[in-house]
Amino acid sequence: MKTIGLIGGMSWESSSEYYRIINQMVKERLGGLHSAQCILYSVDFQEIEKLQHQDEWEELTRLMIQFAEKLEDAGAELIVICTNTMHKMAEEVENSVTIPLVHIADATAQAIVEKGLKKLALLGTRFTMEEDFYKKRLEERYNIEVLIPSETDRKAIDDIIYHELCLGIIKRSSKERFKKIIKALAVNGAEGVILGCTEIPLLISQEDVEIPLFDTTKIHAELAVEMALGKG
Ligand code: GLU
Repeated sequence: MKTIGLIGGMSWESSSEYYRIINQMVKERLGGLHSAQCILYSVDFQEIEKLQHQDEWEELTRLMIQFAEKLEDAGAELIVICTNTMHKMAEEVENSVTIPLVHIADATAQAIVEKGLKKLALLGTRFTMEEDFYKKRLEERYNIEVLIPSETDRKAIDDIIYHELCLGIIKRSSKERFKKIIKALAVNGAEGVILGCTEIPLLISQEDVEIPLFDTTKIHAELAVEMALGKG
């Protein structure tokens, strides 16, 4: 079993999900007392969030490279960035280490392609929904058409992520808001929805909506385990 290196803390609410999922899956696969061999580098999200909203992406890239290098030095054999948003600098991180990076958008795209779906809605932070780094990868590499919510809905989603979910606050009203947004996207032709922020699955799950949901936290963590067990 390879050692999985996790860059987490963005937020820790979702990193703890990664930790649970990878350990559960290793236990299911290997049985007995088996659990995942992993190293978690967990950051102070207040610092990261401040730099994100000050548009300090160069500094953030420098930091992310540093975290990945620390994991590699500590013995990690795979890198997993436990946030969709911070895949904005995934290529730079990948190029700075000699171990493979498990890209969250690739993992998700593979799951979508397996289901034969072509037109997907993307929910995430404003960075993920509005910038190209995530959408373009899905469109250019996997031929997936990406729909994003309206400006008002994007703002609501982003607010819920940073002011509620990343703080561990789960509100019924926010869940209802997400259900409404997903319904509107389905009416606009979305065949499924990418939960493209690792905290969104804390709020909404498949039983809440009719169209297929792609839980990026689960898909990403599971692919990391496949790779750690030598099957990815
Ligand atoms: N965890 C979130 C994501 O998957 C958002 C937090 C962040 O800005 O990294 O995008």
